[in-house]
Amino acid sequence: MIYSRLITRLGLKSWTISNRSIACLSALPDTHQMLQKTCRDFADAELFPIAAKVDREHIYPAEQIAKIGELGLMSIVLSEKYGGTGLDYMAYAIAMEEISRGSPVIGVTMSIHNSLYLGVLEKYGTEEQKQKFIPGYTDGRKIGCFALSEPGNGSDAGAAATTAKLKGDRWVLNGTKCWISGAYEAGNGIVFATTDKSLKHKGISAFIVPMDAKGLSRGKKEEKLGIRGTSTAQLIFEDCEIPKDNLLGEAGYGFKIAMQSLDAGRIGVAGQALGIAQASLECAVDYANKRIAFGKPISKLQAIQMKVADMSLRLESARLLTWRAAWLKDNKLPFTKEAAQAKLAASETATFCAHQCMQVLGGMGYVSDMPAERYYRDARITEIYEGTSEIQRLVIAGQVIKELSK
Ligand SMILES: Cc1cc2nc3c(=O)[nH]c(=O)nc-3n(C[C@H](O)[C@H](O)[C@H](O)COP(=O)(O)OP(=O)(O)OC[C@H]3O[C@@H](n4cnc5c(N)ncnc54)[C@H](O)[C@@H]3O)c2cc1C
Repeated sequence: MIYSRLITRLGLKSWTISNRSIACLSALPDTHQMLQKTCRDFADAELFPIAAKVDREHIYPAEQIAKIGELGLMSIVLSEKYGGTGLDYMAYAIAMEEISRGSPVIGVTMSIHNSLYLGVLEKYGTEEQKQKFIPGYTDGRKIGCFALSEPGNGSDAGAAATTAKLKGDRWVLNGTKCWISGAYEAGNGIVFATTDKSLKHKGISAFIVPMDAKGLSRGKKEEKLGIRGTSTAQLIFEDCEIPKDNLLGEAGYGFKIAMQSLDAGRIGVAGQALGIAQASLECAVDYANKRIAFGKPISKLQAIQMKVADMSLRLESARLLTWRAAWLKDNKLPFTKEAAQAKLAASETATFCAHQCMQVLGGMGYVSDMPAERYYRDARITEIYEGTSEIQRLVIAGQVIKELSK
């Protein structure tokens, strides 16, 4: 509660557009710096200490997620009208980095819930749907999931094979969604299914599906390389019936909803990746200052300094790209290319920094006494979900070619 009171007291919504411009160019406004410090202190005190256990024992950190809910972070961009904290995407990007620096598992849960559940409902839901599916989902005690991928289509999201057929006043869903983050923890999900296969991606529609709906079951929890505290599993629909009113937006509008939502989601994943990269850099420098080789700390060796320089350069570049994407979104300007650039740069930076961190730690980087090997494993997913690095490059190239071919 103390943190949510603090956030309220900070008046984080009061800063102006000129402040935002400054934020992108140099320092953050005071209010956002205070949010950053609050999240950082919280992550140091409450998240980092449990992160290794969460990873080792595959525990979903429900208690800590409820605590970040108390901070207002599980509905950080949802407007106050619907019980959210009502902050902007710059605040979201900053909070995502700090929380993920302590625990990337909590980071991904926060990201999917904010951008791909609440964000989707707020933007595309009817007033009735918002009143029905948002309450209870703003404080971290209940979370939502986002089910787009299928065994036969990941990058090619338009090729969805899960079907939805209208029978009377019910939609009947059949098919399998895979890789769904939070499949075992979520109370509701945004699910994509085709209502008219002949229209290909234009036949895809989005639905709000309660996870306890009859005819919906979950597959086994996937054994993963990283982010092991969150479940990833299939959702299997066998004549699963949901009310007609659970269609989100218009029929055939689902692909557009998915793509636009993923643009915003990529700012969250970029924040998560920055957190892993920052944690890796801090771990590497701390170890390099303490480890003595050839009579002096290895931080005095230029070979180590080169690594530190490259890590910080890539990290700070990716952070500016992420803040730029958030700033554009906050100012209602196009941000598809910039969100893809931010996600691409930040995720590849996370992998790079975790790799370099392990190298700086030598043998200690390879064992689980130190967090470096966990950072290395956790970083890798940021290059895969919400669009692989190859897909980000396609998005960026498509936009650049369009811009330069006018
Ligand atoms: C831990 C985890 C959590 C996930 N969470 C979710 C979730 O909550 N919800 C959800 O819907 N999905 C989720 N996903 C799925 C994720 O988004 C997909 O795995 C991802 O989009 C890639 O799809 P794919 O695995 O089918 O790979 P494919 O699409 O089969 O791609 C395989 C390879 O081919 C490349 N490739 C494909 N098409 C092209 C192209 N046109 N040009 C160049 N290269 C190409 C890809 O980049 C990749 O390298 C999750 C995945 C994982 C592993």
